[in-house]
Amino acid sequence: MSQQNPCLAPSDTPPNAPYFKPYLTLENISKSFGNFHALRDINLSVGEGEFVCFLGPSGCGKTTLLRIIAGLESQNQGRITQAGKDISWLPPIRRDYGIVFQSYALFPNLTIADNVAYGLVNRGQSRSATAARVQELLALAGLPDSGKKFPGQLSGGQQQRIALVRALATSPGLLLLDEPLSALDALERVRLRSEIRQLQQRLGVTTIMVTHDQEEALTMADRIIVMNHGVIEQCGSPQDIYLQPGSPFVASFVGKVNILRGVSLGDGRFRVGLMEFRCETKVDHIPAGQPVKVYLRPEDFVARAVEQRTHNHTMAEVKKIEFLGAFSYLTVVLEGMEQQPVVASMSLNLLKELGLVVGSKLRYGLLPERIRVYRDQEQCQTVAA
Ligand code: ATP
Repeated sequence: MSQQNPCLAPSDTPPNAPYFKPYLTLENISKSFGNFHALRDINLSVGEGEFVCFLGPSGCGKTTLLRIIAGLESQNQGRITQAGKDISWLPPIRRDYGIVFQSYALFPNLTIADNVAYGLVNRGQSRSATAARVQELLALAGLPDSGKKFPGQLSGGQQQRIALVRALATSPGLLLLDEPLSALDALERVRLRSEIRQLQQRLGVTTIMVTHDQEEALTMADRIIVMNHGVIEQCGSPQDIYLQPGSPFVASFVGKVNILRGVSLGDGRFRVGLMEFRCETKVDHIPAGQPVKVYLRPEDFVARAVEQRTHNHTMAEVKKIEFLGAFSYLTVVLEGMEQQPVVASMSLNLLKELGLVVGSKLRYGLLPERIRVYRDQEQCQTVAA
């Protein structure tokens, strides 16, 4: 295994990451529907006990990949190994996983206890052993008294907690979650995501969750696999993905970002409008004169101790303040960049301290260690054409 490949279980990569022994390995997985390539040459290793999220926009192939791991869809080529065993072509029933879908998928005509017991029947256990296990699982779901109820008598969040423990009933080696929170309201989603994460950590079950919600992925995952158009764009910890996006797609898909058109001046210096600044993030060598796109997150603008923190500073005028409670989004025009207004975030306390209102002027600094710059492929093509 290469030390360089970030799609390996993290035990092989960052020195300070928690240790995960490789458990599930996908090698060269490809899938086409007719002429459409849904997945291209996917290589990934998931560690034992790791929580991995497949994150990407609609249609990027994440559900197809999860279904291939479950054996509910078959790959055109590639190999899947789980706990050292080749499961590439095994039917779902012979694979070792529990799965939770977006739609709860409980049997409406069975009681909650019978729903939970469903995967336990035909396992040669006595009735009393099954009943005890069901009770244990209901307690794990935080719903110990719900056994006699029917699914229709529970809220969406409660039903999903039951679906989760039903998937865990047989203590599978792998837990697969297909957008399990998307049908729930915002408050319940936040509550359940931390419950799922705590349960997963308590049980130590290797988990893969599909989501298109970046906040879910950032808060729950040990590692995020960002997918786009059937390929893996980047694998990394939530911090890596957010702070060191490997491509313009990742930088704009995960987190809010201002994208500005500029030009390279060479040696890590760039110009946007009339403003020149330095960027200290690792950028490919971009020769002077090349069109670039500059990515600035709202929190990359500093308004305090500006001169000490960066040479990249300029005056700005506040054009709009969007109040969001603990912080606000300020639409500002930076001097020399009048054509491209940007959005900067500011805490409620600082906003009050500086007394900013629409029309106020302030000095902003752009942190050179945060600015991301990529070649502007569209402009390059236009120039080439
Ligand atoms: P979403 O979040 O919308 O479910 P996704 O990333 O999970 O998106 P997939 O469901 O994996 O995407 O689908 C990937 C692509 O493959 C889509 O363009 C989809 O239309 C196509 N696709 C998936 N299943 C089939 C199928 N059975 N037949 C034809 N095309 C399919």
